[in-house]
Amino acid sequence: MANVMDKLVSLCKRRGFIFQSSEVYGGLNGCWDYGPLGVELLRNIKDTWWKAMTYREDVEGLDASILMHPRVWEASGHVDNFTDPLIDCKNCKARFRDDTLTEAQRSAGQCPVCGNKGVLTEPRAFNLMFKTFVGPVEEDNSRVYLRPETAQGIYVNFLNVQAAMRQKLPFGIAQIGKAFRNEINTKNFLFRTREFEQMEMQFFVKPGTENHWFDYWRQERWQWFSQIGLPEKRLRLREHEKLAHYARAAFDVEYEFPFGWGEIEGLHNRGDFDLGQHEKFSGKALRYFDEESREKILPFVIETSIGASRTTMACLVEAYREEEVEGETRVVMRFHPRIAPLKAAILPLVRRDGMDELARQITTQLRSHFPVFYDEGGAIGRRYRRMDEIGTPYCVTVDSQTLQDQTVTVRERDSMAQDRVPIAQLREEITRRMETWTMPPD
Ligand code: ATP
Repeated sequence: MANVMDKLVSLCKRRGFIFQSSEVYGGLNGCWDYGPLGVELLRNIKDTWWKAMTYREDVEGLDASILMHPRVWEASGHVDNFTDPLIDCKNCKARFRDDTLTEAQRSAGQCPVCGNKGVLTEPRAFNLMFKTFVGPVEEDNSRVYLRPETAQGIYVNFLNVQAAMRQKLPFGIAQIGKAFRNEINTKNFLFRTREFEQMEMQFFVKPGTENHWFDYWRQERWQWFSQIGLPEKRLRLREHEKLAHYARAAFDVEYEFPFGWGEIEGLHNRGDFDLGQHEKFSGKALRYFDEESREKILPFVIETSIGASRTTMACLVEAYREEEVEGETRVVMRFHPRIAPLKAAILPLVRRDGMDELARQITTQLRSHFPVFYDEGGAIGRRYRRMDEIGTPYCVTVDSQTLQDQTVTVRERDSMAQDRVPIAQLREEITRRMETWTMPPD
């Protein structure tokens, strides 16, 4: 299976999905750049989440800044608790998290990299927050952090959003944005990186109703994954036995990656921990005034937190297929059409008799509705394969019959079936097919 990851990483580079950050300088560990197709894929995933989470009456959107007042991270517990146990090898200088060692390695002090025994240091707490300074002087009281999660921007804006939008409990605030963690070991491509994007929603409820809302959001989130083409059979919900300092209940949604099950989303009942802490540290009340009971309430929070980058990786893994077609291997990315970077390719069979001009006209017409690609280079079969490899769900071919009867062939990526559609109905037909698309069997 490791082989699949190698092939995927190479396809992502070759076809413009994902590049190594600062590649010409040898790269920067744990950082990746989204190329022209990758950025479309990522945006489509984020848009699908944004629509599902905020196009409703009881959730508002927000975009808080990455740099925040440093006291935020004292209140949240990150300054004291957001640490991993770091171990060094005194021999080969390798570094790793204590929890990645086997029991045998730990008790023998054996380095998993160089294999020597008795060479490991005791674990020490390593804080994962990136630090920087505001203003020209690098001193302790100008130190700020790059946020390790987007959630805190939501908590400190809870009353601003509530008052501005005249919201009543229960309601939520959703945000998509970058987060930074100085992970000890980055690995598995986009799975564990130092800079990544999160999509988080914090739902504020009256104390006593949190179990109901926790169940509600667990179901909502579970059902959402089919919208981006991740099937239930490769997902599971796992309940945490050991809870973080802020949580009263926690579930992870895990996806079955080629290297094993991995968390893509976390769901937490955070109680009133966060708002309570910010009240304590800021000295400002963060209470909701309930008109009915005439009481000031410190709401409980249900959190849904999903990595946009990790989810993008799950979608890439899920889409990748190799198939035998007429004695050759066809590589096809079977993205859900909703997240596919390009929705259709327009291909003149040959570059003469006006086929190329007509194909260009069709391209222009369709482009105002969704992203499409015009390609006139090479044999038609090769052009189909190039589109399969980047997951374009439909190929539209202009041939000599088109010049006679104004119909084109539409070829489906998954079944490779072709049929003729009048140019006048092409947009509606592609839209209809995208909306009624179902996942082909494995
Ligand atoms: P892990 O145990 O894998 O480090 P976590 O439990 O610390 O993750 P949360 O703090 O719950 O993760 O963050 C919510 C989501 O953010 C995760 O489900 C994941 O999708 C994403 N995420 C967290 N850390 C990273 C990272 N280093 N790289 C990419 N995505 C991440």
